Amino acid sequence: CFITLEGLDGAGKSTHVQWLVEHISAQGIAVVCTREPGGTELGEQLRQMVLSQPMHLKTETLLMFAARCEHIATVIEPALQAGHWVVCDRFTDASYAYQGGGRELGSAAIASLEQWVHPGLQPDRTWLFDVPLSVARERLARSRDLDRFEKEGDAFFERTRKAYHERTAQCPQRLRIVDSTLPIESVRATMREQAQQLIDA
Ligand code: C5P
Repeated sequence: CFITLEGLDGAGKSTHVQWLVEHISAQGIAVVCTREPGGTELGEQLRQMVLSQPMHLKTETLLMFAARCEHIATVIEPALQAGHWVVCDRFTDASYAYQGGGRELGSAAIASLEQWVHPGLQPDRTWLFDVPLSVARERLARSRDLDRFEKEGDAFFERTRKAYHERTAQCPQRLRIVDSTLPIESVRATMREQAQQLIDA
């Protein structure tokens, strides 16, 4: 079972990812927890490059997919083939949202890279942690030093959130919106219930 977590920076994704992995593991299921961009040694180097300096939009997009390609080949596919679950903090929906929407590359270019890099591999379930921009901003300001994406203006994040919502409309079975303005406990109750459905499936 392949699970991905998505959302704007500051939406609360990282608060929930570790909890989810512990919850799945407590059910006696072997689970690998990983993230994008990153997840491999090369991927973490690419992450560092892409987050630290401005670059052409196509370069940015290709580096995201380069990191993803390595990640799939060396971490995700082997784990899934071994029968483990994989929980990944961001995946291709983030490319649709950030490069496709936020940076206005459009979804066609992302779709063709997706088709080239991982035809046939889709998450079984994706949770989109959704909050209005003002909430995301407030949480980000409190929590950490910002990377170059997180320093973008409101219009960028509005486009990114809109693209996430469009993805959700296109893949309603796989992508579920979680209202991440709700208290942590109630978000977890929703995730617990849906994780149980995946375990029972
Ligand atoms: O989720 P995390 O904070 O680790 O993501 C690192 C940064 O990379 C974030 O600022 C996120 O917006 C950005 N990102 C991106 N495009 C992707 C994946 C992540 O711009 N496809």
